[in-house]
Amino acid sequence: MTTDKKIMLSESDIPTHYYNIAPDLPTPMEPPLHPGTKKPIGPEDLAPIFPMELIKQEVSQEPMIEIPDEVRDIYRLYRPSPLYRARHFEEMLDTPAKIYYKSEHVSPVGSHKLNTALMQAWANKQEGVKRLATETGAGQWGSALACACQLMGLECMVYMVRISYDQKPYRRVMMKTYGADIVPSPSKLTKAGRAILEKDPDSPGSLGIAISEAIEDAVGRDDTKYSLGSVLNHVLLHQTVIGQEAKKQMEIAGDYPDILIGCHGGGSNFGGIALPFLRDKIKGKKDLRVIAAEPGACPTLTKGPREYDFGDTAGTTPLMMMHTLGHGFVPPPVHAGGLRYHGSAPLVSHLLNEGLIEAEAYFQGEVFESAVKFAQSEGTIPAPETAHAVHSVVRHAERAKEEGTSPVILFNFSGHGHFDLSAYDAYFSGTMDPNA
Ligand SMILES: *Cc1c(COP(=O)(O)O)cnc(C)c1O
Repeated sequence: MTTDKKIMLSESDIPTHYYNIAPDLPTPMEPPLHPGTKKPIGPEDLAPIFPMELIKQEVSQEPMIEIPDEVRDIYRLYRPSPLYRARHFEEMLDTPAKIYYKSEHVSPVGSHKLNTALMQAWANKQEGVKRLATETGAGQWGSALACACQLMGLECMVYMVRISYDQKPYRRVMMKTYGADIVPSPSKLTKAGRAILEKDPDSPGSLGIAISEAIEDAVGRDDTKYSLGSVLNHVLLHQTVIGQEAKKQMEIAGDYPDILIGCHGGGSNFGGIALPFLRDKIKGKKDLRVIAAEPGACPTLTKGPREYDFGDTAGTTPLMMMHTLGHGFVPPPVHAGGLRYHGSAPLVSHLLNEGLIEAEAYFQGEVFESAVKFAQSEGTIPAPETAHAVHSVVRHAERAKEEGTSPVILFNFSGHGHFDLSAYDAYFSGTMDPNA
């Protein structure tokens, strides 16, 4: 039991293994299918784009997967991340709920994404890969992979959605600082990009298009593989360092969450904090509500059916069983760019189907109102994505007050909003559509 504001662990508490929930699942997940044959894919189908180590992790039934020393060593730059008791936020909300948050914004790139970028870069390097190709929307994933590649000695090629490339120059400069090559997508470098540009030379691009370009780049070169920042099992696996640390920290705090909340784009930061706690729920050791908060403008989990769909626009990826709005769905340009993906992680979709988790959708007006409250009480400005989790916390804290209960709420603070101040500007000046 501690009354500390922030609960710190020492470097020796950095997890030694990633937690794999697959063997603990009540029922197994549906396999990904080959886009042509519609049969379950094998490792050889993924080998052109991913290194074998990550393909193995994707389907592994091992409960714990060791974290390589070199990755753990670099994790020491920012891990273990602090866990805070949000007393000032509680006071501002005048709630009887106890609120805690796990601070993933302390990574050098400002979000949780570096946790998986480092492991992915390492696995590729082991197998002789020299260069990674990827896509980025708002730029968070691109800057995480660019940083990881630089620290691991790999080259990095980023296809950045055109509209973000033009509107978010600072993320672009950040990637450049880490030595990455960046092109606006659609680009002339790939067939997929050229096909779009022929039809629409002024295409603003989309995440789905950029994924198609990055995969084509990786398949076309021997020295290059592809890297994805969310959605896949191995990405969620790497993010479980968050939840494992948080469990230890909550123990030191002398509390266990009644309600656990994460924002949801592709599902990786949510899975990262939730999976180690869900193990307790599956084993019947603890009863807690686990909630994914998504944007009303891209309501994958709350409105999308769970069915087989492609991960990209061009329909080149394996078909995955997931909640999806359809691979042709282009979400409205809301400010939480990292939450604008048509699908959700097959693992998160499976957990929702099993009744182990819940989902909520919120609109950006209410989300930014809560984000400002958080910044004004706890000091840190949330990323627009993270602000969805913050708003869900506010709603549950208000309900606790109405109902006279005092639940322990833990949420994942996935990133800071220092590169998204134009979104806050739009909120303050009234040019933001509050209902998008
Ligand atoms: C990318 C991002 C997200 C959304 O991605 P997930 O895979 O759902 O975690 C959320 N928050 C921040 C800060 C991000 O950078």
